[in-house]
Amino acid sequence: MASNGYRNGTGTNKGAIKPPASSNIRSSSFKSRLPPSSNHSTGSALRRTSSASFTTAAGGDGVPGRVRVAVRLRPRNAEESTADADFADCVELQPELKRLKLRKNNWESETYEFDEVLTEFASQKRVYEVVAKPVVESVLDGYNGTVMAYGQTGTGKTFTLGRLGEEDTSARGIMVRSMEEILANVSPETDSIFVSYLQLYMETIQDLLDPANDNISIVEDPRTGDVSLPGATHVEIKDEPSFLELLRLGEAHRIAANTKLNTESSRSHAILMVHVKRSVLGEEVAIPSESDKSSHFVKPPKPLVRKSKLVLVDLAGSERVQKSGSEGHMLEEAKSINLSLSALGKCINALAENSAHVPIRDSKLTRLLRDSFGGTARTSLIVTIGPSPRHRGETASTILFGQRAMKVENMLRIKEEFDYKSLARRLEIQLDKLIAENERQQKAFDDEVERINLEAQNRVSEVERNFTDALEKERLKCQMEYMESVKKLEEKMIENQQKHQHDGFMKDKCNWEGPGFSEDIAEVKKLLEKETHMRKEAEKEVNKLKSQLGQHMDAGAGGDAEILKLQIALEDEVHQKKKLEEEIIILRSQMLQLTFEADQMRRCLARGGSGNAYPGLDSPMSQVRDSLSGHKTPVSALFDQVGVQKILDLLESEDANVRIHAVKVVANLAAEEANQERIVEAGGLTSLLMLLRSYEDETVRRVAAGAIANLAMNEANQELIMVQGGISLLSTTASDAEDPQTLRMVAGAIANLCGNDKLQATLRSEGGIKALLGMVRCRHPDVLSQVARGIANFAKCESRASTNGIRSGRSLLIDEGALPWIVQNANNDAAPIRRHIELALCHLAQHEANAKDMINGGALWELVRITRDCSREDIRSLARRTLNSSLLFRSEMRRLRIEL
Ligand code: ADP
Ligand code: MG
Repeated sequence: MASNGYRNGTGTNKGAIKPPASSNIRSSSFKSRLPPSSNHSTGSALRRTSSASFTTAAGGDGVPGRVRVAVRLRPRNAEESTADADFADCVELQPELKRLKLRKNNWESETYEFDEVLTEFASQKRVYEVVAKPVVESVLDGYNGTVMAYGQTGTGKTFTLGRLGEEDTSARGIMVRSMEEILANVSPETDSIFVSYLQLYMETIQDLLDPANDNISIVEDPRTGDVSLPGATHVEIKDEPSFLELLRLGEAHRIAANTKLNTESSRSHAILMVHVKRSVLGEEVAIPSESDKSSHFVKPPKPLVRKSKLVLVDLAGSERVQKSGSEGHMLEEAKSINLSLSALGKCINALAENSAHVPIRDSKLTRLLRDSFGGTARTSLIVTIGPSPRHRGETASTILFGQRAMKVENMLRIKEEFDYKSLARRLEIQLDKLIAENERQQKAFDDEVERINLEAQNRVSEVERNFTDALEKERLKCQMEYMESVKKLEEKMIENQQKHQHDGFMKDKCNWEGPGFSEDIAEVKKLLEKETHMRKEAEKEVNKLKSQLGQHMDAGAGGDAEILKLQIALEDEVHQKKKLEEEIIILRSQMLQLTFEADQMRRCLARGGSGNAYPGLDSPMSQVRDSLSGHKTPVSALFDQVGVQKILDLLESEDANVRIHAVKVVANLAAEEANQERIVEAGGLTSLLMLLRSYEDETVRRVAAGAIANLAMNEANQELIMVQGGISLLSTTASDAEDPQTLRMVAGAIANLCGNDKLQATLRSEGGIKALLGMVRCRHPDVLSQVARGIANFAKCESRASTNGIRSGRSLLIDEGALPWIVQNANNDAAPIRRHIELALCHLAQHEANAKDMINGGALWELVRITRDCSREDIRSLARRTLNSSLLFRSEMRRLRIEL
C-alpha cells in the first residue's frame, strides 16, 4: 500500500537539498551544509497544529526534512592490520569536503558525498553530536526521531549505538548519550520518559525486557498512522543508572535469546524506543469580547502535552542482504533477515525515486519504521564501513544504501494534546496558592490593625498619665495655698476675737457689729475671692498645659523624622566635604609631583645624566647637594601646602591609583634628607613597611622599597627599620620580586643597613645577608652594584669592629657563603661593582681569621691583581699594605713565588 506519509508531496527531491525542518535544530553540522532555515519555526508549526483538534499530528502542513546520512569508518583491526598490511584501504575519506572515495582499483575511484564523513579517528562524542544530537533535540521539541545504524557485521554499528562506556565515559555510545541529553532537559515533576527495548528476529518481535514476551504485534492507528507496540514492556526512566541497568538487562536477554535460537545478535535488529512526554504551555490566545468586537481579552496559555518518540535501531548486518544461507534454519533465517533489510532497501529506493508504491507493509521492520523513512520523524542514518579491501563489495553496497537514503525526505509534525487533567491540576494549585496568599494578607492586615490600636492606646494612656500628674501637682499646689489662706484667716480671726475681748473690758458695751468686724469680714471675703480667682487661673493654666501637651505629642513624630532627615543631609555634606578635600590633596600633590618630575628631568638633562625618576641610591649626595643649595624642591613644598600626615594617609587609600601616586610622592620626599625626619616622625616609615608587607602591586612595592632605601641612609632610621621588622620584609621582597628595579631598591636599602656597625649581628640573624646574596640571581648590573656595595659596607664595619677589638673570628660574610661570588665578580666589567668588591676584599683581608678561607677561595689572586691592575692608586696601596701585613698571605705568596 502506498503511504501518503512516505511520499512527502515533493516531486523534485532527487538530490535536492531542502531547508532544515526548523530553526530550533541547534548544533548540527548537517545543518551547516544547508541553506538558511525556512520560516517554519517550531512555534508557528505549534500554533497551526494546536488549533486543529485533540491530537494534532494529522494535517498536511508539517515541516520537510531530509534523512541525514553520515558514514563512519572503523579503524583497521588486528586481523586486518596483518592480513591487509600490503594493501591500501578500500576507501579514502575527505572529511573536510564530506566526501568518500571508494577505490575501484589502483587507478580509479568513485566519489560520494555524505552529510558527514567520520574518519576512523572520530570520537564517540563527535559522532553523537553530528548524528544523533539534532534528532534528540527535535524529540525534546516534540517531534518523533529515529537514529539507525546500517552496515556490514563487524563495522561498528553496536560500537556506535550501544556502548555503555562504564569504564571509560568517553566510549559511551549514542543510546547512553541520547538518554543523558533527554534527562538533562526534561523536568521530573511534569515530564516522563518511558523506554522499551526490542529485538526483531525472523519477523518476530521479542521483548528484551521480558524475554517471555516474544511475539509482540505492531499496532497502527488508522487515523494518525502512528505505530505502537502496546504489548512491549515500558519502563519509566528517572535517571541514568536505571537506564544503564535496563540496557544491560536487555543485552543479557538478547544473548540468552540468541543462544536459545542458535543465532548471533548480528542477525537480529535491536530497537530501543524512548517515549518522551512533556508538559508545555501553549500561547496566550486573544479573543474578541462579545459586546465589543474591537476589544480583546486574553485567555491564559493552554497546558499541552507533547508526546514524542526516539527510536534507535541497531540493524542486522547488511551482508545478509546479498548472501543466503545454504540449508534449513539458516535459509529461513537468511530469508527473514533478508526480508526486513531488503524491504527497508526497497522502501528507500522507492522513496528516493519518488515512486508511486512504497512496499512498507512487506516487512515488520518497515512497518515499525514507517514514520522514520518518509514519515513524520526526523531521521539520521549512520552507515558503518570497514577499511578492508577484501570487503569492497559489502562496503560499496553499504555506501549506495546510504546515498539513496539521503534522497528520502520526511515531513516533520509535532504531536500535541490538550492536557485537561494537567490544566485542572494547575488551576487547583493556582487556586490554592491564591487562597493561601489571601489568608496571609488578611492575617498581616489584622496584625497591623492590632499593632496600630495598641500603639494608639499606649500613647493615649501616656498622655493621660502625664496629664493626671500635672493636674495632681496643680491641685496639691492650690490646696496648699488654700490651706495657707485658711490658716491665715483663722489666725486673723483669733487675733480679732482677742482684740474684741480686750476692748470689752475697756468699754462697757460691746457692739459685735461694729465697723472693725465688718472690715475683717470684707477682708476675708476679698481673700477668698482672690483665692477663687487664683484657683481659676491655675485651672486655666492646667488646661493650657494640657492642650500644649497634646500638640506636642502630635508634632513629636513628624519632628523626629525631620531631624533624622537633616542629620542624614548633614552627614552627607560632611562626607562630601571630606571627599572633596581628599581630591584637592590628590590633585595638588599630582601637580607637584609632575612639576617635580619635570624639574628632575631638567636637572638631569643639564647634568647630562639619565632621567632617573627615583634619585638617591647611586648618588645619595646629589640629593643632599640639591637641598643644601637652598633650592626648595616642589615636592618639599607639599609639606607646607598639604601636610605630611595627609599624604601618608593617602597611602592607605582604597583607590589603587591614589595609593601608587601617594607612595611616589612619599618616595620623592624621602629622597630629600631635610624631609626624612618629618616623614619618620609622622609614621611614614611604618606605613612604607606596611606597603611592602601588604601590597602585591609591583609599582607600589618598588617605589616603597625605594623610599625605604632613601630613609635607610640615616643611621637613626636604620635602627628603626630593624626594630619594625623591616629586614625580614625586605628579605621577603628580595626573594619574591622579579623586577630588577624593585630588586635594586631592596638591595640598596639592605646595603645601607649593612653600613651600620650596630646592626651587623641582627642583619645576619634575620637573613639580611642571605637576601642580599640571593639577589645576584638577577644579573642586572644595577642590582649587582647594590649587592657589592652592601658587601663592602658590611666588610668595612666588620673590619672596624675587629680593629677595635669588639669582634673576633671569621667574617660573617664568609660564613654566609659570600666569598665565591666576591671572587667571581672581583674583576667585573662594570666599574661600580668592581670597585665595591675590591674594597670588600681589602677589608676582609685585614683579618687573619679570614686569610685561610680567602686563600682557599682564590681571593689572594684577586688581591694580588688589585695591587697591580686597580686604576685607583689608594686601593692599590691598600691592597698591598693589607697583604704585606698578613703572615698567612705573606707565607702563601712566598710559597707561590709571588712578589708585590
Ligand atoms: P557491528 O555491530 O557492526 O557488528 P561492532 O560494533 O560489534 O560491529 O564492532 C566490531 C568490532 O570493532 C568491535 O570489537 C568494536 O569494538 C570494534 N570497533 C568498531 N568500531 C570501532 C571504532 N570506531 N573504533 C574502534 N573500534 C571499533
Ligand atoms: Mg552489532
